[in-house]
This record gives sequence, structure tokens and C-alpha cells, in this order.
Amino acid sequence: MDYFPIFAKLRNRPCLVVGGGAVASRKVRQLLKSGARITVNAPVLNDDLRRLASDECISIQSRPFDPLLIEQNLLVFAATSDPEINHEVAETARRKNRLCNVVDDGEASGFIMPSVIDRSPIMVAVSSGGHSPALARIVRQQIDEWLPSGIGMLARWASKWRNTVNRQIRTHDGRLRFWQRILDGRAAQRVLAGDVTAAESEIAGELKQPDKQSNTGEAWIVGAGPGDPDLITRRGLQLLQRADVVLHDRLIAPELLELARRDAEFICVGKQADGPSARQEDINQKLIELVQNGKRVCRLKGGDPFIFGRGGEEVSALAGAGLPFRIVPGISAANGCAAAAGIPLTHRDLSSAVTMVTGHRADQLLNGGTDAEWSRLAASRHTLVFYMGFRNLEQICQKLIRHGLAATTPAAMVQNGTTRHQLVAGGTLGNLVDRTTGMGSPAILIVGEVVALADKLGGYVQSFENSEPIAAGLAT
Ligand code: SAH
Repeated sequence: MDYFPIFAKLRNRPCLVVGGGAVASRKVRQLLKSGARITVNAPVLNDDLRRLASDECISIQSRPFDPLLIEQNLLVFAATSDPEINHEVAETARRKNRLCNVVDDGEASGFIMPSVIDRSPIMVAVSSGGHSPALARIVRQQIDEWLPSGIGMLARWASKWRNTVNRQIRTHDGRLRFWQRILDGRAAQRVLAGDVTAAESEIAGELKQPDKQSNTGEAWIVGAGPGDPDLITRRGLQLLQRADVVLHDRLIAPELLELARRDAEFICVGKQADGPSARQEDINQKLIELVQNGKRVCRLKGGDPFIFGRGGEEVSALAGAGLPFRIVPGISAANGCAAAAGIPLTHRDLSSAVTMVTGHRADQLLNGGTDAEWSRLAASRHTLVFYMGFRNLEQICQKLIRHGLAATTPAAMVQNGTTRHQLVAGGTLGNLVDRTTGMGSPAILIVGEVVALADKLGGYVQSFENSEPIAAGLAT
């Protein structure tokens, strides 16, 4: 973190703006909204500043930059058109331990101004740390579009009820959950729609049901998608953001976990790609305990929870204990990796079915699978996707060739599909092993004529918004 974000209370606090032109008057106008006591230090003032001075909104020190003014102020803005003066202001401020913003010069500034959405009392401030102000503006715009226009009104309405709620609900946890339910539910919808009377009776009604607060435990079995944090579903994200506890696999992107509530508890129960699994019974038991204790648990699983994710076992355990749950699907590694590598999993002319095989199943097949089973897998016109421990690649290719697939059958390996570390290697069953030297887990193997289509797309490898593919294209 290069900058520490704070919201400063400036009402009646002294702030200094050095400069008398258009840039300075823009800063002054911004600052006026905060109620700061503003002094402008400049030998000459433009019309706007003169008008503000005569209306007594600001006071004027009508002379060249005076270093003695720095110490008397909390914040300083260097806003002259002369870079040398601006630097002198910044340097004096630095020596006197005052924070100084130099207009259009992040390097010289002790603090920078974020891009702001002001729906007071709700404020959103966005900054790119000076790396790309244009990008910060776009992010601000996106949040602006998403944020209900009445959000400030909602905050004021909630503030009116705070004391009452604090008196009636004694525990911090209980209050948190109560507000979550109110601000996420019908009462808030009513306020946003301008019907405060209806909202008041909603919240009063909710406050009369203290029981409702005590046991709202629920489990949400959520598919996190294949790796790129943007590939979770909207519902998955909404539930992740509401959870008290996030019980997650190890491969979940840290960026995704950061989207959960700050005060949520995080428990990693996953397994390393090739390492030992956390015991499934322990995970089931943990889920049950948490939900029984009234927690809303987001069980965040890689890909889709019901594709090789043992989500079925977790759901059975919850159902067996009579606990409520919801299931949110996710994009499985096969879909994600295929899209990222430009491989259509089916194709009218080339493949009319997809078979997904787990690493575990591949192990079983390799250690004693019957010929018939391998022949079935090798059946023509199928796309095969192996969710696999990387170590089995060579044996799988050999078995498929031995049971009827041509050594020239196109095959590709995708490692860390859809993420910034994605690697794609393409070839045939006969030569893929040589082309995947140095690759590792997590990876999937895709086999079938459809793999060659990626080449027809011009070695296309999708660059997901957050990712820079390291190796692109399918060499054949
Ligand atoms: N439920 C998950 C699969 C869990 S099994 C899903 O639907 O995707 C774990 C295996 O998935 C890994 O061993 C690997 O073979 C595959 N996998 C998961 N994420 C992957 C990724 N980003 N790139 C390639 N393979 C991945």
C-alpha cells in the first residue's frame, strides 16, 4: 500500500492553498465543501477567488509564498503555475511535518486526492496511486453506476435507528447480523424507493422478533470458478460478501477472498494440487458446527462444486443434519481452460460429447482399469478432459494410443487456466509429453479433434481481463 486512505474531518480546521489562478480556485471550491477554514496565499487573485474573499468564505494572504504560513495549517495545497514555487511549498511542508498536495505532481505530494463519489454520508474514494488517474475515473464511474442513488439517504435513515437497535440487541455479532438483514432486505428497498413509512414498520417488526437473530445459520456451497477472480457468478459473489465465515479451498484466488467481509473468518480447508487432502469428514463436520452455531458460511470451492468438488458429500452432510443450504454453480476448470485456450469442447463436425475424468479416476484406470474402460474412453468423436495430477500425463497418452486413438490426435495441456499464470501447451497424444516440460499443477488435459480448432483461431489464447498469458498459442 503506497498510500494510506483516510477521510479527514476538516470542518473549521485551517488549510492553506498557495496560488491565485484557476487551479487554486478549483482546489478552494473542492475544499469549501468540507467546511475547512481556508487561507489563500498569492500576490494576485483571479476573479473567482476575489469573489470568495469578499463573501468571506476564504481569507487572503496577499503576497508571494510565505513559508511561515505552513506551520499554522493542517493541510497545504501547492497550486501555483510555477513548478519551482510548488516544490518550495512542498519542501517547506515536508520539513514542518505538514501534509502537502502538489497539483498534478504525485511525486512531490505528501498526499494525493482520490476520485470521489459523494453521496454523503456515504463517500467512495478511488485512487490508482497516481499510476493511472484515467483508470481510477473508470472504476469510480463503474461504482457510481452500481451504487443506488438513495444510498446516502439510507445511511441517514439507519443512523436514526442505531440507538434503538443498540438498546435492543446486546451483542455486536447480533447487531451486525441484524443490520445486514435490514440493509440487504425489504426495509432498505423501501427507503430507497422513498417509502420511509413502510420501512419504519418493517424495521420495527424485525426488532420485535429477537429469535430471528439467533439462528440464521446457513451454508452456501459456492463455485468460485476456475481461477480468474472475475469468473465467479454474481450470486456467488453476493453470498461471499455476506458470509460470516468463508471456508475455502487452497486454490481460491486471494483477490476473491478480499471481496469477503473484512470481519469474516477465513478457514482454508483445501488441499495442495498434489498434496494430501484435508479429510472430507472433517470439512463436513466443520460446516455443520458452524451452521449450527448460527453462522452464515460460504463454502467456496474451486470451479463448480458439483464437478469433482465433493460438493455432493458436503450437501448430504448438511441435509442429514437438517441444516439449510444453497448451491451456487461455478465455471468448471474444463470450461474455463477451454475458453482461455480457444478450444471448443464440442463441435458439430468433430465432437458430439465431452467426457470429464477426475485425477482420482485416472489413477484408478491406470492402476488396473480394464481394456474395455480405456476403449470406451478412446471412443471416437469424444472430447476427453482429464482433471489430473500432472504426473499422469505420459501414461494417459500411452493408454489412449494403445486403445485406439491415433498418436496424431490433437491434445493440449492447460495449466493455471484463466489466471495470470496460465500456460498452454498443444500438440498430439504422441508428442505432448515433450512439449510440457517444466509445466506443473493445477492442469487439465484436453484430448480430441476439437483441440486443433484452437490453431485455426490463429493460436488464440484468451486474455482475461486480469491476466497476461505467459505462453500463448498451440504449437503443433
Ligand atoms: N471442482 C473443480 C475441480 C476440482 S479437482 C472444477 O469444477 O473445476 C482439481 C483439479 O481441477 C486440478 O487438479 C486440476 O486438474 C483442475 N483445475 C482446477 N483449476 C484449474 C486451472 N485453473 N487450470 C487448470 N486446471 C485446473
